[in-house]
Amino acid sequence: MTEAKLIDGKAAAATLQRRVGDGVAGLIGRGGPTPGLATVLVGADPASQVYVRSKARLAAELGMASFDFRLDEAIAEAELLAVIDELNGDERVHGILVQLPLPAHIDTTQILMAIDPAKDVDGFHPFNVGRLGTVAPRAPLDFPVPCTPLGVSMLLQDTLGKLAGCNAVVIGRSNLVGRPVAQLLLRADCTVTIAHSRTRDLAALGRTADILVVAIGRPELVRGDWIKPGATVIDVGINRVPAADGKTRLVGDVAFDEAVKVAGHVTPVPGGVGPMTVACLMFNTLQEARRASGLKFSAAD
Ligand code: NAD
Repeated sequence: MTEAKLIDGKAAAATLQRRVGDGVAGLIGRGGPTPGLATVLVGADPASQVYVRSKARLAAELGMASFDFRLDEAIAEAELLAVIDELNGDERVHGILVQLPLPAHIDTTQILMAIDPAKDVDGFHPFNVGRLGTVAPRAPLDFPVPCTPLGVSMLLQDTLGKLAGCNAVVIGRSNLVGRPVAQLLLRADCTVTIAHSRTRDLAALGRTADILVVAIGRPELVRGDWIKPGATVIDVGINRVPAADGKTRLVGDVAFDEAVKVAGHVTPVPGGVGPMTVACLMFNTLQEARRASGLKFSAAD
């Protein structure tokens, strides 16, 4: 039996980052602005601090300006809205990232809706969600798209080339991952089914998929016999589980050791989708800076 080929998200992310770094230099070289990313963190959650720090560091490495806002856990919603308003009006800033989750006393929807859609590099503003939901097949994505789904679609394009006509099953219907992944696959001419916790016979549905994208947050729920032989499996899940040595380890939503014996291509966890997410955030920030510049760019840039 031949084993599935691994989809190397680290290598794909490194390539995308190089492209973004070149794009930043090219934009500045043509007299455009230095792309600027503002990160807004409310509170001191250690995991969120790590994420925000790594995003700001990568932005700087790629030649972008990075503006780091650390706000007190107890900040009033009105004060946070005032920070967003200031960033909306700051022409050095092309992307605004508000790290989620926000404290319970803040209405996340109000905050996301306050971000200028043209600086919404997470793609969570309802205006951009609506654009993704109405984009014509194969039409350009000239607005920001959520980073993890964008990373998933880039990995699929790299792996398979054309996706037209493929049966795609997306397990998970969150606004963060499942739904936007499904929209992107529909735009790429796949026949898309979205499955979720109430779907009957997930295993049988999974076996119909040429492309199986799993984003549920349940360690190794998807077994080898849910997968059609030769299918392309993208595992978005990141779950920390106890390891034999008393420590912990990361696993995906797919039982990798089983999937690798059935699938044609599969993403590992870690090292699959994860690295693409932050690279896509940088890509989105560059794209918004390009659009703000008024200069023309080709799809190959
Ligand atoms: P979520 O909790 O918001 O949504 C989970 C979805 O899975 C829901 O739509 C639910 O209906 C479905 N679901 C739950 N249990 C199910 C079951 N037993 N069978 C079928 N469907 C089921 O989660 P999310 O934000 O979409 O994240 C999903 C996973 O992806 C998590 O493990 C998360 O850590 C990971 N994630 C990874 C990245 C990355 O960069 N790699 C980014 C975002 C999320």
